[in-house]
Amino acid sequence: MTTPTDRAAPAESARHNAATVVRTVLAHGPIPRHRIAELTGLSAGTISRLTGRLAGSGQLVELEPELGPSATGRPRIPLDLPVEETAVAGVHIGTLRSTLGLVDLRGGVLAQWAVPHGSTDPRELVGELAEALADLTSWQSHRRLLGVGVSTGGWVDTEAGTVVEHGPLGWHDVPLHAELTARLAPPVRLDGLVRALALAEGWYGAGQRAESLLELFVGNVVGAAFTVGRRIHRGPRSASGGIAHLRLPGVEGAPCDCGASDCLQAALADGSVLRLAREARLMGPDEPLETLVRLARDGHLGAIRLLRTRARSLGRAAAVLLDLVNPELLVLSGGPLHTPEYLPDVRAELVRHSTLGLAAADRLIPSGLGEHSLVLASAAVFLNAWFSDPLAHLAAAG
Ligand SMILES: [Zn+2]
Repeated sequence: MTTPTDRAAPAESARHNAATVVRTVLAHGPIPRHRIAELTGLSAGTISRLTGRLAGSGQLVELEPELGPSATGRPRIPLDLPVEETAVAGVHIGTLRSTLGLVDLRGGVLAQWAVPHGSTDPRELVGELAEALADLTSWQSHRRLLGVGVSTGGWVDTEAGTVVEHGPLGWHDVPLHAELTARLAPPVRLDGLVRALALAEGWYGAGQRAESLLELFVGNVVGAAFTVGRRIHRGPRSASGGIAHLRLPGVEGAPCDCGASDCLQAALADGSVLRLAREARLMGPDEPLETLVRLARDGHLGAIRLLRTRARSLGRAAAVLLDLVNPELLVLSGGPLHTPEYLPDVRAELVRHSTLGLAAADRLIPSGLGEHSLVLASAAVFLNAWFSDPLAHLAAAG
């Protein structure tokens, strides 16, 4: 995190007001100052002072004056975010490869690259990422890089800046934030993938108009994340959402490392479904999940049964989470989106098991982030900090 060093910490109300102004410009820009005042209820003086500071540091830009004078006789100058002049990098560290991209302040994806890992040693891997990021940004050198958002699976303690546990990478208590800031010049923000997806969903996806949102991700890992008013709940050591080994009655999968075969990881994770498919001799040892999906689409009953069982288990998990948290939206992301034909099974089981009954069906929606979800999610880790406290970034932006 970058803090201005040449001035005292901005008063809490100024920080809050600056965030309100920037979010209003994000939602409605280009927009003149008097409209920001109308929409936010802030005084003209406050708007003038804050927009002056934010424009001075390049966090807002002034466009050509609108034709015709305002009531005061002065020209109306629309303000916008520096969408064309800046970029934010999003880096997702996966198990075999990382996905890097550049995103503008309105969530437009400018570029996306996949970088296969040469090493899983954290320092060497960060070195590879720094080089790839330098190549990527040189391609868009007319844009100022505001910051880098980084996400990875497993358990990430955001406050400590560490990856507490990432099984597939073999990482335990890796000080990833320190490694990243040692190699990258712009400010870096780090979070777990599922929380990153929830943030991106709130800023750019299906959650833009929802006050509360619960993200349920199923891939190589299973996890959940919860936001209220685009603020993410992390809890002590950022351990919230670690639902992988939650056991549910009626759920059955491949035996999990935790010893159970009725936990969510066992029933839902891609690897567990693959293991069941291989044990049932539906496919060879090296074939990917896509083979199973293709078999099912060709009408293979064994393959259909496996994918339908996973969908139903997912519906049961969704019912528990929906009843526990009661979010406006429960957003489903990851592997199940590749088999939309089973979403009706997920919904049917959700309705059957949730206390909300039929009303539960409308709460569940597939992620709206699309093919760039990893880059958008990772970038959102930084963008969330940027939009939540613009004054904290004055020094970095200027
Ligand atoms: Zn387990």
